[in-house]
Amino acid sequence: MTEVKVAVLGGSGAGKSALAVRFLTRRFIGEYASSAECIYTKHLCLDGRQIHLEIYDPCSQPQQGKLSLTDELHWADGFIIVYDISDRASFAFAKALLYRIRESHIAVCKKMVESSIFLVGNKQDLCHMREVGWDEGQKLAIDNKCQFCELSAAEHYQEVVAMFTKVLRNIISNFKVKEKRRPSGSTVHGQVNQQRVFGKRRKSV
Ligand code: GDP
Ligand code: MG
Repeated sequence: MTEVKVAVLGGSGAGKSALAVRFLTRRFIGEYASSAECIYTKHLCLDGRQIHLEIYDPCSQPQQGKLSLTDELHWADGFIIVYDISDRASFAFAKALLYRIRESHIAVCKKMVESSIFLVGNKQDLCHMREVGWDEGQKLAIDNKCQFCELSAAEHYQEVVAMFTKVLRNIISNFKVKEKRRPSGSTVHGQVNQQRVFGKRRKSV
């Protein structure tokens, strides 16, 4: 069993919960609790490998401006950074998150260099209200060496699955690189932080 931890980050209302719930349950329910952070867990099989997936979905409201990310950076094997293509402020927030993650790659934690980051422009169904161009998203992704796609959690189930699958494949191939470098196969995770901050709520789907 391979454990994979993914943090879905982004501005309030960008669609973090919608994306996670869509992937995990196939459904788009429209309204999502935003007052609590939670970790969803799911078992799945990818390329013949059994995976125990944990998806961190932060609470939206009170910590909207929170950028310290220290716990998330230690906890996660990969990140999905979400913005809303009809909301320029959410794009600015995504940009700030990417810079923060990149900064910490360089400064602290070599593990993160190998981490997988996916920038997602959500709410593509609202393209008549678009405030952020596709090319702007792509440029931001290229500048930060991450992958990019636009999709709609509301309308594009297959694209949501494809995006999560790519994230998982990248993370697993990073694990393989690390296993080669570290013959014991052990990986260093922020266990203490994880217990403290992320041990609270777990929802199995
Ligand atoms: P979060 O704060 O980032 O977790 O955002 P939510 O997942 O709670 O979504 C915020 C609002 O945007 C909700 O009303 C969702 O129904 C809506 N929403 C999320 N994804 C989409 C989408 O792809 N298209 C449209 N039109 N609305 C969406
Ligand atoms: Mg939410």
